[in-house]
Amino acid sequence: MSSNRYSIAVLPGDGIGAEVMAAALEVLRAAGTRIGRSFDTASHPAGAQLYADTGVALPPTTLAACRAADAILFGAMGLPHVRGADGTEIVPQLDIRFALDLYAGVRPVRTWPGLPVPLADPRATAIDLVLVRENTEGLFHARGRGVVEADAVCDTMKITRAGTARVVDFALELARQRKAHGRPGKLTNVDKANVFASMAFWRSVFVERAKAFPDIATEHAYVDAMALNLVLKPWVYDVLVTENMFGDILSDLIASLVGGMGMAPSGDIGDDHALFQPAHGTAPDIAGQGIANPTAMILSAAMMLDWLAVRHDDSALADGARAIEAAVQGAFESGVVRPREFGGASGTADIVRAVIERL
Ligand code: ATP
Repeated sequence: MSSNRYSIAVLPGDGIGAEVMAAALEVLRAAGTRIGRSFDTASHPAGAQLYADTGVALPPTTLAACRAADAILFGAMGLPHVRGADGTEIVPQLDIRFALDLYAGVRPVRTWPGLPVPLADPRATAIDLVLVRENTEGLFHARGRGVVEADAVCDTMKITRAGTARVVDFALELARQRKAHGRPGKLTNVDKANVFASMAFWRSVFVERAKAFPDIATEHAYVDAMALNLVLKPWVYDVLVTENMFGDILSDLIASLVGGMGMAPSGDIGDDHALFQPAHGTAPDIAGQGIANPTAMILSAAMMLDWLAVRHDDSALADGARAIEAAVQGAFESGVVRPREFGGASGTADIVRAVIERL
């Protein structure tokens, strides 16, 4: 960064990734004007279509641009019909996570005034929680390493002390920050320590790290019970931390609590780099029709501003994040736009326009 300019590596990707990215960049520019900051947003190729065309999903030049940038904005990648030799989809986002050591997958969800809440219980209007997913090991350690025999395949979960400690510390810090802003400051550890040695180890590391945060209330939950409770009473949770695969599944579940994938932003955060992307995929079923909900991507850009604000000690960026969130809330509260997942008729451009008007 120099003189109020930040470099953002932009990876639009496949399907609706490119559509929601274009939308978020418009909003980011408008927010930048408001706070007196500008963003160099160079786009770089990557994704399943690129793989189909060239045999390469994540060119080294794109990864280098991600390393060099102040932050990364990522749309969505992967197409069901484009697969590698082992039958799995092309998902360069996992390669970036591992290459840049983006160990904390941060997935906040909250209900938005003005939009319907899927759960009937009135307390569901108060859902405001963050799932922190370990991003670099766990069951995903097995990716590309599966032991394949004629009639059996083995994928191994790997949990390390260092890998667990750093993500648990991250979640404890996050709970502390939220407590400072009036949230409960409670961290729920989600594991399967009753069955797996790896998970019992994860829990022991959690307990050890939590001792350094006596101000943060902690509790433990098994992942199966957590799936139940996240539907029965999600409003009682504040911050959750869990293993990679469990986090993958639970993050889709919590997105559904607030209306769907189009409302769920995320950040993949490491010590030196961070990438921000909507929790959803490329949604080939609705791509190219201008009807994707860009809110998750727009809120991911706001998360990026918050991360940059701390990293560069630049509070104007945090102001930009609040302004984007307020504009999104205003757009929905006013009733002028309603995304299609909520039974409305607003397309991508309608939502962008409503948000920018309020910025
Ligand atoms: P991935 O595994 O890559 O995360 P996925 O298989 O979970 O992807 P998505 O691409 O996220 O699937 O789509 C799941 C469903 O949600 C689809 O029906 C899709 O149309 C819908 N969906 C996802 N994102 C959006 C969005 N931004 N706006 C509207 N609908 C969406």
